[in-house]
Amino acid sequence: MPGIPPPSPRTPRQRALAAVSALKELYPAVCALSHSNPLELLVATILSAQTTDERVNQVTPELFRRMRTAADYAGADLAELEELIHPTGFFRAKARNLVGMGQALLERFDGQVPETMEELVQLPGVGRKTANVVLGVGFGIPGFPVDTHVARLANLLGLVRTRDPVKIEALVCQMVPKEEWSGFSLRLIQHGRQVCIARRPRCALCPMSSWCPSAVVDPQRPLKGPGTGERAAP
Ligand code: SF4
Repeated sequence: MPGIPPPSPRTPRQRALAAVSALKELYPAVCALSHSNPLELLVATILSAQTTDERVNQVTPELFRRMRTAADYAGADLAELEELIHPTGFFRAKARNLVGMGQALLERFDGQVPETMEELVQLPGVGRKTANVVLGVGFGIPGFPVDTHVARLANLLGLVRTRDPVKIEALVCQMVPKEEWSGFSLRLIQHGRQVCIARRPRCALCPMSSWCPSAVVDPQRPLKGPGTGERAAP
């Protein structure tokens, strides 16, 4: 006899927890940026702004071979650094940020990458997203980075109705247990790249399509757009 299907999640919190479970079945909690320590992860994440992880991974092997410590970045020749990271775009600003980051680490943190949000966001080129990646992936400290994929999926899945990354982070972190924050963000990013692709989501392949409020069941019917309020979705 067929079993009774579980009820559809109806509230943002229920949908968030259902998404945590569904995505765990699909993806490992991995970060696509190549790194072997928190400093390399911090640098790679700074470089990942406005470009792809693949592009960052192309430049970091040589960069990390030459730059191993905060002091290496603090004393780096700007022109050499710009050339090394050129393919990632915005290379002048990123090179300046890397030198500034190295100097700040030396002056204020004994050359070590700090382990708190408050300290990380003081570093040049580091916002909450980068800090949360370093906390969650680098140190195993709960953090929920909100990038463009996470923001888009949090709206499509009906978890929030805002595009503001700080508000999305705060709202989702209220719905999901701390120990899931980092993995949930990493899995949302993978889902956004592989299945829930911007403007052409592959809902037929998505395990959340039975309850996702944005699922496209009829290809002729447009997606419901994300809301504009700044609250958790109803
Ligand atoms: S059902 Fe479609 S819109 Fe919803 S999360 Fe899955 S792929 Fe995205």
